[in-house]
Amino acid sequence: MIKIGLTGGIGSGKSTVSFILKEAGFEIVDADIIAKEVLVKYPEILEKVKVEFGAGFFDWRGEFRRKEFGNHIFRFPKQRKKYEEIILPYIKNEINDKLEELEKKKTSIVILDAPTLIENDLHKEMDYVILVWVDNNTQIQRVRSRDSLMREDAINRINSQMPLDIKKDFANIVIENNDTLAKTKEQVDLLIEFLRSI
Ligand code: ATP
Repeated sequence: MIKIGLTGGIGSGKSTVSFILKEAGFEIVDADIIAKEVLVKYPEILEKVKVEFGAGFFDWRGEFRRKEFGNHIFRFPKQRKKYEEIILPYIKNEINDKLEELEKKKTSIVILDAPTLIENDLHKEMDYVILVWVDNNTQIQRVRSRDSLMREDAINRINSQMPLDIKKDFANIVIENNDTLAKTKEQVDLLIEFLRSI
């Protein structure tokens, strides 16, 4: 099974590209979905969060206040690291289980859509790495408008990740997503042609 890592930065357009690839029939493993699923599947994660970060991030019904918690950990990098130490092992295990499952089903190509593929060293397990790139200003604008964030919170989230220009050094293929969606689709169509040829 050929493993393709698809990465980018927050709001760089990974999901947009991933959607086109899915429509074209490729198997996608989405790390963002897994990050949400593990919270439901392994209640001990939120138990650990409550112990480490306090009950203030849970409402009166005990529901996790995801957005407030997100803003908190992206404002304080050490706190984010603490959260990642709790959740990452679960995410990595789940990704590996999904990849094994697909391999057993004789899937020929799988795409792992993971925003922090490189930060978490998962790129080393991939045969190819695709980066969806945008310039900094476009990224800030898209994150702000999609997530209704204040400029500062958008910038905090962007700065918490490895800069896209550095990620370029790890990528075999770069999709530039500054321009219109039609321009991006043209590049993804070429990528699909390539993937079908390997
Ligand atoms: P995240 O990892 O944060 O979920 P992402 O990399 O998956 O982000 P998308 O959700 O695909 O990014 O895109 C971010 C926002 O920018 C979305 O609202 C999307 O509709 C918009 N967008 C993506 N590509 C373009 C484009 N070429 N032109 C205009 N808007 C775009």
